Amino acid sequence: MTAPVPSALPPNSVLGIVGGGQLGRMSAMAAARLGFRAHILTNEPDGPAAQVAHGITLGAYDDPDALRRFASAVDVVTFEFENVSADGLELLSGLRTVRPSGRILRVSQDRLAEKRFLDDAGVPVAPWHAVESRQDLDDAAQALGLPFILKTTRLGYDGKGQRRVHTAGDLAGAFDALAPHPLVAEKMIDFACEVSVMVARGIDGTTVTFDVTENRHRNGILDLSLAPARIPPDVAAQARDVAVRVAMALDLVGLLGVEMFIDRDGGILVNEIAPRPHNSGHWTMDACPVDQFAMHVRAITGLPLPPAIRHSDAVMKNLVGPDDMAQWPSIVATPGLLPHHYGKAEARPGRKMGHVNVLFPHGGLPGEFGVEAALGPL
Ligand code: ADP
Ligand code: MG
Repeated sequence: MTAPVPSALPPNSVLGIVGGGQLGRMSAMAAARLGFRAHILTNEPDGPAAQVAHGITLGAYDDPDALRRFASAVDVVTFEFENVSADGLELLSGLRTVRPSGRILRVSQDRLAEKRFLDDAGVPVAPWHAVESRQDLDDAAQALGLPFILKTTRLGYDGKGQRRVHTAGDLAGAFDALAPHPLVAEKMIDFACEVSVMVARGIDGTTVTFDVTENRHRNGILDLSLAPARIPPDVAAQARDVAVRVAMALDLVGLLGVEMFIDRDGGILVNEIAPRPHNSGHWTMDACPVDQFAMHVRAITGLPLPPAIRHSDAVMKNLVGPDDMAQWPSIVATPGLLPHHYGKAEARPGRKMGHVNVLFPHGGLPGEFGVEAALGPL
């Protein structure tokens, strides 16, 4: 017997997206362009994704009844939100094809599972130590040395669920402040820069990577992404190889963001993975003929994956909270700025409200000062 030939979903098929935020919104818009209909599982009837979708199922991600109603309305399931319960994933996987698979989601939901998986795959990560008890934490300090970073294994994002431990006096406070336990301690890496690679893998095993992105954070939240990253070409090639290795080891179908640290010797350590479109890939929306969202939709619907070509250098600036959004009128009035608004009604502090891309079509990202100038009064 030969294996069935994998086939692509036809136009007008329904793409089910778990999660109603901006990643779902931009995925739904990319889906529409390819003739697919997006159906969102969300508890926000007027949220960023629901505003642009063909349909929604209103409900919680762990409500079996909502998950069943959602599955019956769609042809394939994907996620813009990773923290679906194991039971919920199992239920969905029994009803519809889920891409990326529930197994990949489970690995990415849990920092310990993620590190064990990467270790097994031979992918370098920062030295780490599992912490369930105060004794474990003392052992971690012994094993890793100070300083280190203590993180919750689950539900962390935008720097939340983390504490830096600089001295032995910080240990107890950090342990008590972080919940839920268990935790993971990681050696503090004195990196030269942070980068990420978006990798997509199709149903036929074709793998494509976008150019390496250089990322800068502010208050634990991504602030700027620059593409291509200003790192030596051989290091960039290795970073792309690492991302492909992770995608293959996971048997990925879909899109995956791989966050990495580049150390002062050009060594690469993987920080974390996200099996979905990623904030650091938003520059592709304007700098690539096929952006990360289109690549994601193509991968999960079984369409061929074109090369991840970039036609311009690009900078992406996140618009976070009320301060950045106060600049929106001048941003939309400034030629050369390419704004993206997520449709959120309320600009709370720390909330991602939109982003702006700036292209440098003739190459040559400006220096730091030039970026600020190009982005105007941000
Ligand atoms: P999040 O889920 O919040 O993105 P990360 O693990 O990516 O969590 O950590 C957020 C940021 O904290 C990283 O982008 C990096 O700047 C910093 N960071 C995390 N782990 C380390 C580490 N081991 N060494 C140095 N910096 C780190
Ligand atoms: Mg991160």
